[in-house]
Amino acid sequence: MLQTTLHYSLHLLAPGLIAWVFFRDRWQQAWLIMLATMLVDLDHLLAVPVFAPDRCSIGFHWLHTYPAIGAYCLMWFWKPVRIIAVGLLFHMFTDWQDCWWM
Ligand SMILES: [Zn+2]
Repeated sequence: MLQTTLHYSLHLLAPGLIAWVFFRDRWQQAWLIMLATMLVDLDHLLAVPVFAPDRCSIGFHWLHTYPAIGAYCLMWFWKPVRIIAVGLLFHMFTDWQDCWWM
């Protein structure tokens, strides 16, 4: 229960806080963009089974691999996609902390 609450808070609410702190002049747009980065979880549809509660996403799913995370780090340096990079990296952090709970 605590893990589930933490997971969804980090996926949904924390990006709002990050947007408000770091992109205050357009925090609502930044929050929406960061929420949209949850589309990265579409890579789960390529896995068999699609959902496995005890599986760590990091390093398993294509868009959650370390090379992909490296690409998100590089994206951070290009300002036009920085908000997307922040959303993706925070998403990876959220999924990583899930692995840590396992
Ligand atoms: Zn994920």
